[in-house]
Amino acid sequence: MENWLVIGSGGREYSISQCLAKKDNRSVYVAPGNPMMERMDNVHCVQINEMNFNDLTVFAQSHRFVCTIVGPEQPLSKGIVDVFKKSGLKIFGPDQYTAQLESSKVFAKDMMQKASIPTADFQEFYDTNSALAYVDSHNLPLVIKANGLAGGKGVIIVNTKSQATNAINHLFSLPNQQSIIIEEYLDGEEFSFIVMANGEEFIPMPLAQDHKRLMNNDEGPNTGGMGAYSPLPQFGNEVTQNAINKVIKPLLSTMVNEGHPFVGFLYAGLIMTKQGIKVIEFNVRMGDPETQVILPQLKSDLGDLIINLLDGKKIHAKWGASEYYLGTVLAAKGYPKKPSDHLELPKFPDGTNIIYSGVQDDNGLIYSHGGRVLMVTTKSNNILNAQHQINELILKSVNQNDYLYRSDIGLKAIK
Ligand code: AMP
Repeated sequence: MENWLVIGSGGREYSISQCLAKKDNRSVYVAPGNPMMERMDNVHCVQINEMNFNDLTVFAQSHRFVCTIVGPEQPLSKGIVDVFKKSGLKIFGPDQYTAQLESSKVFAKDMMQKASIPTADFQEFYDTNSALAYVDSHNLPLVIKANGLAGGKGVIIVNTKSQATNAINHLFSLPNQQSIIIEEYLDGEEFSFIVMANGEEFIPMPLAQDHKRLMNNDEGPNTGGMGAYSPLPQFGNEVTQNAINKVIKPLLSTMVNEGHPFVGFLYAGLIMTKQGIKVIEFNVRMGDPETQVILPQLKSDLGDLIINLLDGKKIHAKWGASEYYLGTVLAAKGYPKKPSDHLELPKFPDGTNIIYSGVQDDNGLIYSHGGRVLMVTTKSNNILNAQHQINELILKSVNQNDYLYRSDIGLKAIK
């Protein structure tokens, strides 16, 4: 029996666990997981918080895990990989130094500069006055960002001076933000490109696109992601190859030169501008909800790929070729500000593919817990068909007074 450990509790970790658990003779443990993961075959949840490195290490040692996969960014940015490695445990993720690619915007920009990776021009500021002076001498719109992790709430696009003043004051008031950065606004279509990497070796995954805004037509506030689809028919192979040559390879070799080879999932948030591909951000883990539509395309075994990559063996990943995967998030009413809690879950027809994230167990019954509750996914050789299938399922099965969702996932491909 081969044991794996997955750290995290959301939809991304649900998907990773589901993908790993497909192989015979394998058990997947998830810390802390969620009550719907517990109901999957060959998956077990353990109630250890993802930031409790001490208990996680002891647990990993006692279960002789083949390897650990870390889902979310916080444990990576606090150095879980360094701690596991010191204890002789195999883990697939970047060390704390490398995780700054996500946890520090300035670090990421420095590495991009070293690697000559195209990205928005920027400047760092430690006080309000010099930030305001910069705004005065530059054209709007501008993008103002907290330097450190801000749970997806640290980026504000400003179109007027008064918006800029408010944004600068707001970002300096957030906890743990010593500095902010102001950068050039980039115009274009955004997409996500994730690779599994070890040093300069890497396995590219199909491109995906998230839908960050709450409402149809990309309106309303930013969220953790309301849906995704993959691959992207509007971007051919040459786009992937371009992203590999201009972004992935230069970054991986720069990290090797830094003495901190990148290990784990490298997520490049890219934008196709008139001048070509530029990087908006790097993440050092898989994206949520992109994972949920990327991993089902994998025809090879995820665990074997990771172990071979870590062991420096030749690897070839097989991906399904002809179908699109599309997933729509159901969020509790009130999301993202104040989501309702403890809602009854919708009853979907048997065979519906559902990935659970914000759920809780109350005496054996499962209710919603938190903003994004679940994602309904499907596949089709036509993105519009996939979108229609999901919308129909949701209309039939979901209480519209309790949940909200976007009915236009895939809109950029469909346009
Ligand atoms: P980040 O946390 O840096 O990924 O930013 C979150 C979102 O803000 C991105 O997904 C973009 O939609 C937007 N954004 C960030 N930086 C820029 C930029 N320089 N130009 C335009 N949009 C941006």
